[in-house]
Amino acid sequence: MIVPDSPVPVEAYRVWGYGPDGHLESPTSGFCGGTTVWTPYEAFRASCLAKSSCGEAPNPVHSCGVHAYKTLADALIWARKIGRVRPVVIGTVRLWGTVVETRAGWRAQYAYPHTLYGGRRVGHLATVYGVAARD
Ligand SMILES: [Zn+2]
Repeated sequence: MIVPDSPVPVEAYRVWGYGPDGHLESPTSGFCGGTTVWTPYEAFRASCLAKSSCGEAPNPVHSCGVHAYKTLADALIWARKIGRVRPVVIGTVRLWGTVVETRAGWRAQYAYPHTLYGGRRVGHLATVYGVAARD
């Protein structure tokens, strides 16, 4: 299902990596060509990294877009996998613009973090992005 220009943001669970400079980024940033840093106080806009880029992510037939999960359990599974190779943080994210629903979640055009889980451990990231930190 595609929700074009969803008027109400979708809230979902997401996993981010974070860099030594204290910025959130895609958990696969640096692995699959290019880094995708989330700029504080700016909507993150998805781009297509496919060889034949579709230009306008999310494309229903690609896997592009900002990925997020419907359940915390699914986000935790992904966080445990990717967390073996790099530090990650879990939280909630707001998605808007074009939002494509997938089996486990969504792929969105625009996104911004809403809450970061991890309490004091993620406090510096929450401050940089102006969002809440929860245990
Ligand atoms: Zn694409």
